[in-house]
Amino acid sequence: MNSNLYAQMSSCFPADPGACAIETDQGSTYSFADLERASAMLANLLVQSGLKPGDRVAVQVEKSPEALLLYLATIRAGCVFLPLNTAYRETELGYFLKDAEPGVVVCDPRDFSWLSRSAFLAGARHVYTLGEHQNGSLLERAGLCSDRFETVSSSPNDLAAILYTSGTTGKSKGAMLSHQNLLSNALTLKAFWGWQPGDVLLHALPLFHVHGLFVASHGALFNGSKMIFLAKFDAARVLRELSRATVFMGVPTYYVRLLAEPVLDRKACRTMRLFVSGSAPLLAETFVEFQRRSGHTILERYGMSETVMLLSNPYDGPRLAGTVGKPLPGVEVRLVDEASTLCPPGQVGHIQVRGPNVFAGYWRMPEKTREEFTTDGFFKTGDMGRMGAPGAIDEGYLSIVGRSKDLIITGGYNVYPKEIEDYIDALPGVGESAVIGLPHADFGEAVSAVVVLRPGAQADEKAIIGALKSSIANFKVPKRVFFVDELPRNTMGKVQKSILRERFAPT
Ligand code: AMP
Repeated sequence: MNSNLYAQMSSCFPADPGACAIETDQGSTYSFADLERASAMLANLLVQSGLKPGDRVAVQVEKSPEALLLYLATIRAGCVFLPLNTAYRETELGYFLKDAEPGVVVCDPRDFSWLSRSAFLAGARHVYTLGEHQNGSLLERAGLCSDRFETVSSSPNDLAAILYTSGTTGKSKGAMLSHQNLLSNALTLKAFWGWQPGDVLLHALPLFHVHGLFVASHGALFNGSKMIFLAKFDAARVLRELSRATVFMGVPTYYVRLLAEPVLDRKACRTMRLFVSGSAPLLAETFVEFQRRSGHTILERYGMSETVMLLSNPYDGPRLAGTVGKPLPGVEVRLVDEASTLCPPGQVGHIQVRGPNVFAGYWRMPEKTREEFTTDGFFKTGDMGRMGAPGAIDEGYLSIVGRSKDLIITGGYNVYPKEIEDYIDALPGVGESAVIGLPHADFGEAVSAVVVLRPGAQADEKAIIGALKSSIANFKVPKRVFFVDELPRNTMGKVQKSILRERFAPT
């Protein structure tokens, strides 16, 4: 059997090759036959460019169907796809290119002059350009290539992609994902989320991240489903397109923005089967409000670049706000304390995972890879969580309490930011909050809160501290409360606590 991801994916394409695979917001359409032919032309170009299986193709371009085709072509040629966030600038790019040594780099035509310099310095053979509107040298050159290509035969452990982690602390690391990692997860999610004939995915996520590239695109491609492809998330546009779709995937911020649109109601969502959220915690309030307005219960799931998807709320069964559900079939999840002893249900611990979806290690970082795996092969996710205790409403469901590096240790006590954020968010007038630890002479770290008030709401530091004192232990009560208009978030909706720690550090 050819374990090449594309070979497996294309075996799921519809019997009618003329069926629509992608429709863009500009009205262009691509059939499954187009995907096959165009990815063949691009794969031929990669081979003609001197690439061999295992060579890297680094790509920093805006979202477009051609960017997805380039991903498929890279997989078909047995090469390794390296998507790069479009927000990265010259110094960051220089690091990734030097580290990954791609044979081919594809960038936006606007960035060619500076990016090609870094790429050639890092040893790239070719730098092609790809713009949002089918412009650039990549397609010009691929247009001259044959539209037939025999997909390379790959072994399950051959590399398919390298995803660089956002690296808020230390050097960014390249997570190496194999054909088997991606294939196993795609097939698991296809069954678990009940993908059906006739499903249509409204695709509004970026393509440089695990969520948009793997979870969303693979979902549709492995189901032979049509994707309505939006170049960018735009709440009004999503709402206009929803009535032609059945599945939507987003980060929590997308749901908050959809709720800000008065036209979000049951009628707008009448054709929908599934709304999925992930990549950052979904506030219980958003979950409840979305249910009330749309009649749909958002399915929250949890995963990461290194592991693709790990846990999910059920498709059939109760979806619980504030939880990420249960381990997906084939995924083992355990919680351990500082001494690596298993935590009983109900106790917060470090989340460790093992399964066919878990990556092979960090690119050219054997030491780091060894540190992040236990001797029995579990990956230390760096997240902390709590499994619902027997008899509790969330029995067997995992709740994420935050990254272990965000854990606050104040006067020797552990404080999990998520617990305090939940209390603060429930106070009248509060929109949302982020709890961080700031250096403190006596306590080591002082619990501190950064709060966004609802429009027109009034609350001050004293009132918030006073309200919390009556509900939580004193050591958990923030020593300081700061107010901001908006929390800093990255493109995947994650609150950037390092920015807040810097901004509010005592001088
Ligand atoms: P990334 O590798 O960029 O996908 O980031 C993965 C990280 O996002 C995880 O380690 C979690 O910290 C966070 N994350 C993903 N999904 C969720 C979720 N549903 N709830 C809370 N945090 C999440």
